[in-house]
Amino acid sequence: MDTSFAWDQHFVTDLDAVDEQHHALVDLFNELSQGLFSKRSDREVVLADTYARLLSYTEHHFQEEEALMAQYAVDPRHVESHHSMHQQFVEQVIMLWAQRTTMTDPATTLVGFLTSWLGLHILGIDQSMARQIKSIRQGMTPAAAYDKERGNHDNGTQALLKMIGKLYTALSAQNAQLALANQTLEARVARRTRELEAANARLKAYSCTDALLGIANRAHFNERLEQVCAMARRSVRPVGMVLVDVDDFKRYNDRYGHLQGDACLQAVAQAIQGCVHRETDLVARYGGEEFAVILPDTDLDGAYAVAQRMVEAVRALGWVHESSQAAQVVTISAGAYSMVPTIAGAKLLLRGADEALYQAKGRGRNCAMRLQLLQTAPAEGSTP
Ligand code: GH3
Ligand code: MG
Ligand code: MG
Repeated sequence: MDTSFAWDQHFVTDLDAVDEQHHALVDLFNELSQGLFSKRSDREVVLADTYARLLSYTEHHFQEEEALMAQYAVDPRHVESHHSMHQQFVEQVIMLWAQRTTMTDPATTLVGFLTSWLGLHILGIDQSMARQIKSIRQGMTPAAAYDKERGNHDNGTQALLKMIGKLYTALSAQNAQLALANQTLEARVARRTRELEAANARLKAYSCTDALLGIANRAHFNERLEQVCAMARRSVRPVGMVLVDVDDFKRYNDRYGHLQGDACLQAVAQAIQGCVHRETDLVARYGGEEFAVILPDTDLDGAYAVAQRMVEAVRALGWVHESSQAAQVVTISAGAYSMVPTIAGAKLLLRGADEALYQAKGRGRNCAMRLQLLQTAPAEGSTP
């Protein structure tokens, strides 16, 4: 787009001071439009500077015009409308400038407004003022000069000018409304985004949590285990694993009913959860009455210590279980294992802990066991 505002002979008012001012104003507008379309990195600074100069210059220029009108005692009917146009211009420029960040194409909007306003103003009301001053200089009264000026325009031109003025006012009002709506919309979108993010976080937490026990579910456990193993493999650090199974829980349900069984599981889950302290540790419901615990950066001694604490903590609940073969109260068996994860890390880790748990059950339950080294199956074809 052509961003320059070309000087036109029709702009000449024959009032030297006014013409000079118009020239300077046109130069400033062109400078601003170049700044608006420039690709310079300090574009905003250049723009802000030109804009400030434009505003102060415009105000100064308007003052001079108004002083000129006062000097020749131009008819107040003209002065009033001329003055209000000046006022309106300054207000519009300030408003458009403030809203430029919400416009899709601020450069085109700003320059478009400035140039069209300038054209309309210089060609229209400034020319009219100049003609009136000329008449007054030639001895006509201001009122007669004003009436003559009106008579110069046929009704069609008068109506056209009025229409352009109205159109301009309507467009600026609409522009202001649009910009405001834009800002409100942006604020609403931002709020909505925050709400969605919060809802998303709640949903994520919900989908990761076991509804009955309020701890991590199996899916979340699997996801986390993969992450932890991948990281531990890279940093060659051990991952500890504890598998927990409630002892004789079928008998518990049979004796006390399923609802009481649920309450018991909740108490057991809380007791187990209370035995891990690091933020990176994760207690999950692994199956019905089974729990799995991920202990990043924890060796076998550490994992075993946690397993023992859990056995102790559940026993200490003193939750009566008269049908248990292991004790008078609800107890758990726990198996601990730890290894630096290999490619098959997660699987081996679980197998090791499961094996230890199996041994704990074999030892009569209500205890923790650890597995020193996992027996790997002999490679095919090797001699035993
Ligand atoms: P063991 O000491 O060998 O582990 O014996 P067990 O009876 O605990 O083992 P088994 O796996 O045979 O039984 C587990 C029981 O746990 C059976 C199942 O009904 C119960 N159970 C699993 N999930 C829930 C649950 O969410 N609520 C209740 N109330 N019971 C559950
Ligand atoms: Mg079980
Ligand atoms: Mg069990």
